[in-house]
Amino acid sequence: MASLTMPAGVTTVLLDIEGTTTPITFVKEILFPYIEDNVKEYLQNHWEEKECQEDVQLLRLQAEKDRELNGFVPIPVNEAEVQKIIQGVVDNVNWQISLDRKTTALKQLQGHMWRAAYASGQIKGEVYDDVVPALRKWKEAGIKLYIFSSGSVEAQKLLFGYSIEGDLLELFQGHFDTTVGPKVESESYRKIADHIGCSTENILFLTDITTEAKAAEEAGVNVAVVMRPGNAALTDEEKASNPLITSFMQITCMHKIN
Ligand SMILES: [Mg+2]
Repeated sequence: MASLTMPAGVTTVLLDIEGTTTPITFVKEILFPYIEDNVKEYLQNHWEEKECQEDVQLLRLQAEKDRELNGFVPIPVNEAEVQKIIQGVVDNVNWQISLDRKTTALKQLQGHMWRAAYASGQIKGEVYDDVVPALRKWKEAGIKLYIFSSGSVEAQKLLFGYSIEGDLLELFQGHFDTTVGPKVESESYRKIADHIGCSTENILFLTDITTEAKAAEEAGVNVAVVMRPGNAALTDEEKASNPLITSFMQITCMHKIN
């Protein structure tokens, strides 16, 4: 695969996470299963904490709204035995996960569980081998580095703050999630450029998803599509119409910005 020269006007590299810096399997096979495997133990260990009680309260409020849904799993009333309530919460959480629901209540509990798991070293954020050396090289050349991922900014900071290569947060100038807009809409990339304080032409966006690359390109952003093991295969047309890389080290950075 040919190398790609970083366009001369680029001052900022914007990075996707899943399928770009990090294997898709990390989220699917590590992060999400962790919740199902550990939710009971987590609730037992943290039950007396205010934050845990708030998480349970939010799940109860969600459960009240969910009564009519197929297979609904209730959470026992507050007066019930603690172990019964915990089992009810576990069953409700697993039921929500089985339906792939993205309720705020579920996301909040997941976020707190992941934070505890990262902080205790049970989970470490995965990054491909070439990522850190390339980012350090670009940073040394004066390039600013930002993340744009559909995972929340908090989740992004955990992944890079507790990564297999240590705390990488100092590499990044900032983080964006979909509160700025969907990754497949051009407007999101214009807003990101505004936030950074540069023009869209000053940005190089790296992603594994060609619809995201297209949206960024339409906003004037430079793009490269990252092919990693385990990513969805690209069609011949997608391969023909995008600059492709399999490693960040294929991007040569000729310029020095001060
Ligand atoms: Mg991705």
